[in-house]
Order: sequence, then structure tokens, then C-alpha cells
Amino acid sequence: MASARNGNGFLVGLIGSGVGTSLTPPMHEREADALGIRYLYRVLDLDDLGVPAPAVGKLVAAARLAGYDGLNVTHPVKQLVLDHLDELSPGAAAVGAVNTISFRDGVAVGHNTDVTGFSRALTTGLPGAALDTVVLLGAGGAGAALGHALLSLGVRELRVADLDPARAQGLAARLGDRATASPHGDPGLLDGADGLVHATPTGMVGHPGLPLPAELLSQDLWVVDIVYRPLETELLAAARDRGCRVLDGGRMAVFQAVDTFRIITGREPDADRMHHHFDSIARG
Ligand code: NAD
Repeated sequence: MASARNGNGFLVGLIGSGVGTSLTPPMHEREADALGIRYLYRVLDLDDLGVPAPAVGKLVAAARLAGYDGLNVTHPVKQLVLDHLDELSPGAAAVGAVNTISFRDGVAVGHNTDVTGFSRALTTGLPGAALDTVVLLGAGGAGAALGHALLSLGVRELRVADLDPARAQGLAARLGDRATASPHGDPGLLDGADGLVHATPTGMVGHPGLPLPAELLSQDLWVVDIVYRPLETELLAAARDRGCRVLDGGRMAVFQAVDTFRIITGREPDADRMHHHFDSIARG
């Protein structure tokens, strides 16, 4: 077990904007309770603290000084924190974004468990899913992590689309030869594709709707939505109606928490138990 900086307990935080109702803190704390570990997970909301995103380095420095063992980092500071870390894991360096920071022996190391969490979610949630041609809708922070994960899993052709064409083009260029940018609204976007991975905020609480016309979804397509509030998005409901294999965003949310918990504590959490906890919180 990693030695906690706080006696026999761990102090962990979540930095982001509008994260007051995040399900990640209770997921970590309940798993720590089950393992008999003292664990305090605090929300450090940029909006509530009046800290503008570009000043995130001050908050990271304060957490390090105050004896935090680790942090989760989310929108809009996953890239902005890079300048305030001592080291990056290979995965975080490849993506150019961090969602987890560990403080060990005074060294701040950035990790990206969105990549590892998504990979494990896809391989366990849709076992055997064909990965020749996959469409990634959304080239923001999460989309970048998913693009790297999908290529690592063996996708041969990755089509990247985004409302903002420059984002799709930028991500496709960073991902290399197997990725291409597709125009937003292209009716042929899903032609011949095995799967669709959705990584835009469309369908989450406060952003209702479908990110693309339901008629484009054919029965032989698998569909993953990483939005998890709600778990059953309009996209997943439409895909299910049309006979597609589907996977909701809960599994990725849990596996990224599993990986972060292990990095910070050095203890292996029980992933099934964390799924169970997550389901009970997310479904109320
Ligand atoms: P972001 O703001 O960084 O990126 C979103 C991207 O989607 C932007 O590039 C935007 O231009 C694009 N976009 C918005 N609407 C679109 C549309 N209709 N069609 C095409 N492109 C569109 O956001 P993010 O951090 O990448 O997060 C995206 C979503 O993923 C959020 O809902 C977030 O909650 C979810 N998420 C889930 C997990 C998980 O563990 N399940 C992890 C990270 C993010």
C-alpha cells in the first residue's frame, strides 16, 4: 500500500468546474470504507472557490502543500494542469491531458485513467465488439483520451467528427495515420462502421437531444455513450430501439475511478463492488 501522507488515512480532491454533484467522491469513499481505509475525498470546485481555470496551478500547489495524497482533475483543467506537474505517465503524455495526479515523495505525477478506464469498459462491456472501423463523435478532452484508447485496442480506421471541424482535424492529426477527420453532419459518417463512440455533452442533464439523426443508426452497429448522467441517454435509447448493442457511460466512470483509487492508495479496489456502489447512487 502506498504510504499515506496523513497517518493511516488518505486525503484526495477533485478539481473542476461545476463538480459539486459529482458521483466520484462517494464512489471512492465507499470503496475505502469497505477496505477499511480512512479516506477523505473533497470537492475543490473552481467556481465555488473563485479560482479561474488558468490559475489551477495555485490550487494544485496548495493541495500538495496541504498534504493531499492525490487529485482527480476534470473539465476545464485537464490540459491546463500539465504545466504544474513534475512527471507524466506514458498514457497521459501521449494524450496530452491528465485526470489524476498523485503526490508521492513530493513529486506530482499526472496520469490519465480516462484512457485505461474506457479501454476496460469497452472490452468488458461489449466483449468481442468488432473494431475495424469506429466513429468517434466529440474531439474534446474525453474524445482525445478515447481516440488514443481505441487505437491502442486495435481500431484500424478511426473517423473523428466534431461540431468544431478544427478540433476534429487537430485530434485526427495527433492520432496519426489510422485517424481521419469527418465533416460534421456528414450523412455517410456511419457507413460501413462497426461502432460509434459518443463523447460530446449532448444527452447529459441540461443538454437534451441526439448528437446525430437516429436514422443513421443501423442494427449491426454497436454504440457506446460516455455520458453517464443520465445513464440512459436519448442516443442509447434510440440505438437500443434500432437493435444495436449498447454500452452506457457508467462502466467507464467506474473503471476510471478504480484505476485512480489504485494509483493513489496502492491498494486494489474491488471493481464489482464499485460498480454496485455506482449503480445504487446513479440510479437513486
Ligand atoms: P469537452 O467540452 O472537452 O468536449 C466536447 C466536444 O464535443 C467539443 O469539442 C464540442 O465541440 C463537441 N460537440 C458538442 N456538441 C456536439 C455535437 N452535437 N456534435 C458533434 N460535436 C459536438 O467535453 P469532455 O470533457 O470531452 O466531455 C464530453 C462528455 O463526456 C461529457 O458529457 C462528460 O460528462 C462525459 N465524460 C464521461 C466520462 C466517463 O467516465 N463516463 C469521462 C469524461 C467525460
